[in-house]
Amino acid sequence: MTDPTQKSRTQFNKLQKRLRHYVGDAIADYNMIEEGDKVMVCLSGGKDSYTLLDILLNLQKTAPVNFDLIAVNLDQKQPGFPEHVLPEYLSSIGVPYHIIEKDTYSVVKRVIPEGATTCGLCSRLRRGTLYGYAEANGITKIALGHHRDDILETFFLNIFYGGKLKAMPPKLLSDDKKNIVIRPLAYCREKDIDRFAAFKQFPIIPCNLCGSQENLQRKAMKAMLKTWDRQFPGRLETIFTSLQNVAPSQLADTQLFDFVGLSLSREAQLIEPVLASVFSMPEGLEVLAQ
Ligand code: SF4
Repeated sequence: MTDPTQKSRTQFNKLQKRLRHYVGDAIADYNMIEEGDKVMVCLSGGKDSYTLLDILLNLQKTAPVNFDLIAVNLDQKQPGFPEHVLPEYLSSIGVPYHIIEKDTYSVVKRVIPEGATTCGLCSRLRRGTLYGYAEANGITKIALGHHRDDILETFFLNIFYGGKLKAMPPKLLSDDKKNIVIRPLAYCREKDIDRFAAFKQFPIIPCNLCGSQENLQRKAMKAMLKTWDRQFPGRLETIFTSLQNVAPSQLADTQLFDFVGLSLSREAQLIEPVLASVFSMPEGLEVLAQ
């Protein structure tokens, strides 16, 4: 009989292998990391970014290219933020790290009226700070911990509430073209990351310290996807695959496909069957066809 510890060890190994495999595939498919890259892993203290750092550190040892990793956390000065947790963890695993201290919390509180959603401004300020740090420190890639389910939630949020067919790309050039953002967990399922983080016992810092309500629309998308995943296994995989198989001529965006310029080319269509019949004639009959 297999003992339970051994069984869970085997399950963990399989899970770890799967996540590493998915991350490796995403990195290769989108050429996310190249020789000499200096990759900044944005660490929030949540399960996703811990998992990302763990897997990248592992892949670094066997990757066919040499690259540097640095973990960076932005301490937004939220009340109750346990400042010691990340430095202790990062020192214990021996990874280079930097904590940026910037009180974006006060800015958000000052600017956004009481009761309104603060996440939009908060994220913009965070992004600006991290991009600025990357630029000033020779970082060539900014790695974020978004996973497949984040990408699908964003996709449906944009469809349902934004009237846009867009998601969250695995690799992105920032608007000012000064930074490249990569999402190596793009192929990873959130439920796998949940289990991995639990196995690894990462020192998770709760994300609701700011007291903000979770975005209700995103919450609804998450619930919808979870229900589909339960009721129709494989559906989420299929939807994600569809993001990689876009047929602009079968949609309706005139910027993406030249519907206006579509024109007939009947001459070619008429000539082709005639040519085909000539070339398929039995030997010796070509003369009769002249
Ligand atoms: S939950 Fe709080 S910390 Fe997170 S993005 Fe929203 S406002 Fe910012």
